[in-house]
Amino acid sequence: MSSASELTSLSRAALTQAVSKHSPAWRASQIYRWLYHHGVRSWNDMTNVPGALRTSLSNEYALHPPRLVAEQQSRDKTIKMLFELPSGNRYETVLIPDFHDDGAPRRMTVCVSSQVGCAMGCTFCATGRMGFRENLSSGDIFDQVWHCGVKAKDHYGMGVTNVVFMGMGEPLLNTASVLDAIEKMTSEDGLGLGARRITLSTVGLAGRIRSLADAGFRSRLAVSLHAATGEKRSAIMPVNRSERTDLDALVEAIVYFTDRTGGRVTYEYCMFHGHNDSLEDADALAAICARAPSKVNLIMYNPVEGLGFDRTPEPQLHAFIERLVSLGVTVTVRRSRGQDIDAACGQLAIRNKQASPS
Ligand code: SF4
Repeated sequence: MSSASELTSLSRAALTQAVSKHSPAWRASQIYRWLYHHGVRSWNDMTNVPGALRTSLSNEYALHPPRLVAEQQSRDKTIKMLFELPSGNRYETVLIPDFHDDGAPRRMTVCVSSQVGCAMGCTFCATGRMGFRENLSSGDIFDQVWHCGVKAKDHYGMGVTNVVFMGMGEPLLNTASVLDAIEKMTSEDGLGLGARRITLSTVGLAGRIRSLADAGFRSRLAVSLHAATGEKRSAIMPVNRSERTDLDALVEAIVYFTDRTGGRVTYEYCMFHGHNDSLEDADALAAICARAPSKVNLIMYNPVEGLGFDRTPEPQLHAFIERLVSLGVTVTVRRSRGQDIDAACGQLAIRNKQASPS
């Protein structure tokens, strides 16, 4: 296998620079369109690009389609895919279709990974247990969306409408590739998705949230909160143990972000029975929400074997929601999709790793 870097890992500027060594720079926009508007992953398919330029570039860069190694479809039509990098590291992508009552497709959401594994070590997360393995390139991230778009049209008759960075990895520890992938998804000569249809979900790295705001970030921001006091958050999320990224620093950064961008933030709050689902927790969460334009997305936890967390019973969930609503908080509830195929973060990769003879 070639050790040359993948053409799709280049940003638009880097592609232009690579092309301009061999031909007029404007040829780069033809190639960009082939890669991200038409999704071709073969030099031969770039029919309006001169053969000599294709040959020169193919001597320097590789061009491969993503390697799909496993796929599972859930009873609720969620499709989970496992891809493999040349290094042998594996990462997952989930296509989450949503339908109208009459069965017509309403929305096709792709949950993408930005890294293989994750360094953040959240105690409730299967990916966190893997540790960090490798960053994905912008092409690897884009290809997850393209691949799901083809699959969604085939299976459900609608292309991708939404993208969430909620798969494996912490996107803000791979920011350049993530922002470049978003550019490939949103540009007119790429996929042409609306920027607001993309949600970047972060564990809450305060400094990097401020940098996003300064860089004119236009997509949506979600923050994994999962606890509303410093003590409880530190117990399950090591990121909270540093002064630079603790709850106080995080909330200040979110206030800065929403002031600067005019947007609002979604707090992801996974319900862990007996840990963060009391009415006092709801009060503390509401106090955080009052600081900046925001809403709360409560997530029903998919229990992971051996991690020691349980699902909140329905009556307690309802009491929690009522308390938040009474305090003026906008709340949505996400029921985990694809439970019968282990669609919680990181689980498919771990299962496959355990199943492989390595
Ligand atoms: S929850 Fe997200 S940030 Fe935390 S370990 Fe898992 S993948 Fe990383």
